[in-house]
Amino acid sequence: MSEYLEKPAYIKGQVLPLKDANVNIQTHALQYGTAAFGGIRGYYQAEAGNLYLFRLEDHYNRLKASAHILQMKMPLTFSEFQDVILKMLREGNWKQDVYLRPFLYKADLALSPRLHNVSDDLAIYAIPLNDYLDTKTGQKTMVSSYVRISDNQIPTRSKASGGYINSALAKSEALENGYDEAIFLDIHGFVSEGSAENIFLVKNGELITPDTTSSILEGITRRSILQLARDARIPTVERKISRTELYTADEAFFSGTGAQVAWIVSVDRRTIGNGQIGPVTKILQDKYFRIVRGLEQSYFEWLTPVY
Ligand code: PMP
Repeated sequence: MSEYLEKPAYIKGQVLPLKDANVNIQTHALQYGTAAFGGIRGYYQAEAGNLYLFRLEDHYNRLKASAHILQMKMPLTFSEFQDVILKMLREGNWKQDVYLRPFLYKADLALSPRLHNVSDDLAIYAIPLNDYLDTKTGQKTMVSSYVRISDNQIPTRSKASGGYINSALAKSEALENGYDEAIFLDIHGFVSEGSAENIFLVKNGELITPDTTSSILEGITRRSILQLARDARIPTVERKISRTELYTADEAFFSGTGAQVAWIVSVDRRTIGNGQIGPVTKILQDKYFRIVRGLEQSYFEWLTPVY
């Protein structure tokens, strides 16, 4: 059994080993996908002997917003949420890069797909995680034949579990066709995001990303990248992007908690730029990796040290 299954998890108000944090097969969320989740990284910095959680409060706030959309109640205040997570990680003696998955789910055993009058619960677990996408070699991507779910179907802003069927279809299609990742277009045909990450392109020195009405998840890494770019005086714009703007971009990359900053080498077999990581991407990626490991004093407020 994987060692981390013995580490503490949180479910139904209790901290207990992950291997014992289970639900009944009738659980509403399991049957209907009625749950919302978060994904938070902790970066271990050996020299400092510390584990840094990235933008914990922003993740809490986004989960709370998801709960609001899906008629669930966040049972913990931010400070309680933070206390539970710190307790779990300290008791688990985590000394490596970690991924935290807070998961608000409809815990009722009730039949019928609905949101109201169904009880919910918050669960949290931690797993070890290194790179999710390779950040050193470029991502070979394809525009998916699956269209991104829109706000009036399954709101991507809600980070709803059920919505990840859309992601799974696109991701498998991409991998099984020899690509590394999929890029979704929205229902209007504009570029939306990757299967589990936001997308950026660089054209003539400007950093461009789909706006928040392009059926994206409002990524916390996306927001961080925009801030880093502004701080570095790189012009940024959030707007609709057409598919062929990707083909003709100078640079393109994904951002996300899992993906971190992962550069894109091709879209639909068209090489992006000169086929190398671009200078703007490189600046932002380097900065991001320094920040999350606690090496940039001016962004230290984004981190919650565990020890
Ligand atoms: N879009 C989707 C669909 C995602 O699942 C994720 C990962 N949470 C992201 C974007 C990136 O969001 P964040 O930077 O907050 O991890």
